[in-house]
Amino acid sequence: MKGLLVSAPVASVPLLDLKRQYAELGDAMNAALLNVNESGMFILGPEVKKLEENIAKYSRTNFAIGCASGSDALLLALMAADVAPGDEVIVPSFTFFATASCVPRVGATPVFADIEPTTWNLDPKEVEAKITEKTRAIIVVHLFGQAADMPAFQAIVKRAEERFGRKVYLIEDSCQAIGAELDGVSVGNWGDMSCLSFYPTKNLGGAGDGGMVVCNDEALAARVKLLRAHGMEPRYYHKEIGINSRLDSYQAAILNVKLPYLDAWTEARGKNAERYDALFADAGLDGFIATPKKVGNRRHVWNQYVIRVFNGKRDELRAFLTEKKIGTDIYYPLGLHEQECFAYLGYKADDLPETRKAAAEVLALPIFPELRPEEQEYLVAAVREFFGK
Ligand SMILES: *Cc1c(COP(=O)(O)O)cnc(C)c1O
Repeated sequence: MKGLLVSAPVASVPLLDLKRQYAELGDAMNAALLNVNESGMFILGPEVKKLEENIAKYSRTNFAIGCASGSDALLLALMAADVAPGDEVIVPSFTFFATASCVPRVGATPVFADIEPTTWNLDPKEVEAKITEKTRAIIVVHLFGQAADMPAFQAIVKRAEERFGRKVYLIEDSCQAIGAELDGVSVGNWGDMSCLSFYPTKNLGGAGDGGMVVCNDEALAARVKLLRAHGMEPRYYHKEIGINSRLDSYQAAILNVKLPYLDAWTEARGKNAERYDALFADAGLDGFIATPKKVGNRRHVWNQYVIRVFNGKRDELRAFLTEKKIGTDIYYPLGLHEQECFAYLGYKADDLPETRKAAAEVLALPIFPELRPEEQEYLVAAVREFFGK
């Protein structure tokens, strides 16, 4: 019928489509980059300073220090904590590689701990069991956008410090969790330092790599700031050996444009998650798949919506969806304790059974803010078709 707006039938669903965001904000993003070009300041500079202030305010922390990536933010945090050869750092195995790769970079030993099956976050009982007098830090990941059980980790750290009479750092890997909260307290305020990533697929993504360390301790903030720029203060006088990990003005300018929209995007992600929950609840797929669990008193920011697929059907389901042009991904197909580069640590595959199980079952579905309801319906219909439901 002419004159009636009928949405086109869905023929494909992307895992992430950043062009939809660009369609809204492209003009503002381009204008911000033009400003940087005209300013002639491309590294750090006023845009980075402004972003650091904005992110500190957003995270409700005292300090924020921009750097080149989330991976570097983690490395800088360990350097600022003086983690060194002989030290152990407890990390999850079910996470992105950068959570653990920073540990050998400072000469220390990663100790992999298993996850809770409900949230996929680090299991406090596992961490407690792996603490030794060598434990110098624990890196807790807020995986997929849901805060980990931080009060439990704070208590574990306190007990370890009392037992061994040395500081144990609690570091938050908040790369997937900007804006996430637990008991009304934002991530970044639970540990000594918290690391953010502005990789384009993160909830607040730049137009390239970028990262930040946020914290409340002035001395740690000053140390990270020194370390990110060759330990140099003043110019050409080097107090210690740092790295080159400065944030560029282009990235900061883009992120300053996007930050005011972050809460609305997070809300849209949450609505999409609820829509999936409702669609799957009606689909009669109990025993075939499980939807992700949101646990009490948390603001989940849904960087990923990850289902479990049972009975060894995950890869087959994914291939079926790919065939129907529906984008999905697997975060993560192999625990870090099983990675070739960590073979020297001597872990066996089933040392961390929950990690192993998760790696075999997880499937991430599209959840980005601009995803359309009819695309979600199309996806869920395809999952039902696969299982004959
Ligand atoms: C993305 C990510 C990182 C690394 O961030 P980059 O900016 O890509 O270096 C670290 N940890 C986790 C959990 C991540 O998701």
